[in-house]
Amino acid sequence: MTQPQPAQAQQALQFQCPQCGGEMIFDVTAAGLKCKYCKHTMAVPVPPGAKGAEEIPLREGYQRAPRGLGVATTSFNCRECGATVSVAPNERTASCTYCASHSVVQTQTDPNHIQPETLIPFRVAREKAVDSFKGWLAGLWFRPSNLKTMAQLEQVYGVYVPYWTFDANVHSQWTADRGWHYYETETYQTVENGETVTRERQVQHTRWESAWGQRQDHYDDELVCASKGLPEELSNSFATFDTTHLMAYAPGYLAGWRAESYAIDLPAAWTKAQSSIQAKQQSKCSGDVGGDTQRALQVQNTFSNETFKHVLLPVYVAAYRYKDKPYRFLVNGQTGEVRGEAPYSWVKITLAILAVIAVIVLLVVLFGGERESAQRALESGAHLSALV
Ligand SMILES: [Zn+2]
Ligand SMILES: [Zn+2]
Repeated sequence: MTQPQPAQAQQALQFQCPQCGGEMIFDVTAAGLKCKYCKHTMAVPVPPGAKGAEEIPLREGYQRAPRGLGVATTSFNCRECGATVSVAPNERTASCTYCASHSVVQTQTDPNHIQPETLIPFRVAREKAVDSFKGWLAGLWFRPSNLKTMAQLEQVYGVYVPYWTFDANVHSQWTADRGWHYYETETYQTVENGETVTRERQVQHTRWESAWGQRQDHYDDELVCASKGLPEELSNSFATFDTTHLMAYAPGYLAGWRAESYAIDLPAAWTKAQSSIQAKQQSKCSGDVGGDTQRALQVQNTFSNETFKHVLLPVYVAAYRYKDKPYRFLVNGQTGEVRGEAPYSWVKITLAILAVIAVIVLLVVLFGGERESAQRALESGAHLSALV
């Protein structure tokens, strides 16, 4: 049987069916390529010479890393959020995957971009992502009534989001002042009942001593999101991927799916990863200082055996605009976990507050009225008893 070949440049990301010559796309259920026409399925072909899942040493690796996606792509660049996303060859996208803006222009994917080493293929079917989106929309409170029509359900796209991951050993040497609390009895004068009296109290003091130490830590798969389309707080709260399921990159996984080109390059991502690792080392060293309290902690970190991987992680994105502001609903394509942003309707919130106030007023009137009639009944009862 013949292997499907990536078709010509103008037929980007296309794989031909060996049975009928039709277009094959990556299918979640088949976990492989599936023909759109005759439904023939097959494993994603591994390009010759692909090593995959290899951690590349940071220094020489930057020169050594293979470039490009290994297949021609059609890409669109968004003038609003800046994301460059490759799409299926026959797709004529009119709006941005991430922010639904219409100011997108067709562009070339940078052929010098480092090729992804690994990816996590989509495991969650698109229909399930659409259902999650529907359920999430239905469960929202106090949102604009036309939101459900604004947020078009068919515009849920599976996109591979670019990440960098880093491994490194860190040797940390630290110095600090370690403090021990001790207590002394002091006498003091105070005024009680108009008289000056002498009392005793315990006062806390701190004895300081110099402290120092060192530790060795290993970091594995420190993720740095390289997307321009996902807001950072959204992508950070969403980084719950199981990186033990990374597969060697093959262009076939991208067939029929979108993929964003990284917008944060390797040196910038490594700087980010380093500061995140340094912050973690700072708190680990702080834990080593001991004593009752500490001050002036200084940590010197030395990194070694730094390696990196460029990975693609699967996310479903439903981007929609409301009053010209972008909102996003995301489904983790590996785990099905969801995150969403939606506008609030201040009219509905105000109406709800007014309704609550109205109910309170009504209750006060009812109970207040009852109390008054009870009072009247008591009073008339008293009159009657006086007459008897
Ligand atoms: Zn076929
Ligand atoms: Zn955009």
